[in-house]
Amino acid sequence: MRITVDYELCDGLGQCALVAPEVFALNDDEELEVAADPAPELAGKVAAAARACPVRAISVEGA
Ligand code: SF4
Repeated sequence: MRITVDYELCDGLGQCALVAPEVFALNDDEELEVAADPAPELAGKVAAAARACPVRAISVEGA
């Protein structure tokens, strides 16, 4: 699956990282990092993270 984050919208508070920490994480500079090619079995958690994003910054293709 391919995940895209609109960093213009992202607030950087990490709600997605709470829902799917295998895929989304805040680094030491509090910037959001996204796993490049998450395992297919994580598709449900990625979808939940996208739904949890307060600004709808996460797009998922091919899940
Ligand atoms: S939940 Fe959305 S706004 Fe918050 S850090 Fe994740 S992508 Fe950014």
